[in-house]
Amino acid sequence: MLPFNYPVEPHQRRHGPQGYGSPESYRLWLRDEFAFRCVYCLDRELWQNSVGKFTVEHFLPVASHPQRLTDYDNLVYACVSSNLTKGQAQVPDPCGTLLAKHVVIHDDGRMEARTKEASKLIDKLLLNSEDCRTFRRRWISIIRLAQQHSPELYRELMGYPVDLPDLSSLRPPAGNSRPEGIAQSHAARRERGELPDIY
Ligand SMILES: [Zn+2]
Repeated sequence: MLPFNYPVEPHQRRHGPQGYGSPESYRLWLRDEFAFRCVYCLDRELWQNSVGKFTVEHFLPVASHPQRLTDYDNLVYACVSSNLTKGQAQVPDPCGTLLAKHVVIHDDGRMEARTKEASKLIDKLLLNSEDCRTFRRRWISIIRLAQQHSPELYRELMGYPVDLPDLSSLRPPAGNSRPEGIAQSHAARRERGELPDIY
């Protein structure tokens, strides 16, 4: 298992909470929806002290799409760096663009696009900047060393957070358009013993 494996399939929204008054209120849903990592660069909550490092990001910027301020389907989970870099830019949708078949991650941290859209997104998000390349190279090495020398650390770095949100206890003000997603949430899967140790 590699630390920068982008999804094989385009992301289909699993949850559909509605009616919260602020984007921040959707955080627990988004953490679960995007598997506790940044949808753009795959930085993980578990690789740092996550408090304050991850944001609720508007895919379509609020400046140009104010009506989508609290629309769940316009929100993604992103690290602060990716969020700041993206700013108000309109970019290709990461959910359909950053897929395993569209990007190649090299051991030296470089990210290679195989489609025009992926190339555009990588450029806009500066995902091939020296900073991002170093970040990836470093984590690839750390994970590899952990895998070879410390199975426990490997599981810790590539596993899920301990505090998986219990979405079944939440009551979005205007309901949930995809209630069937609750059973597929990480907490529900862990409860059933179906959640893998690493991902
Ligand atoms: Zn990021």
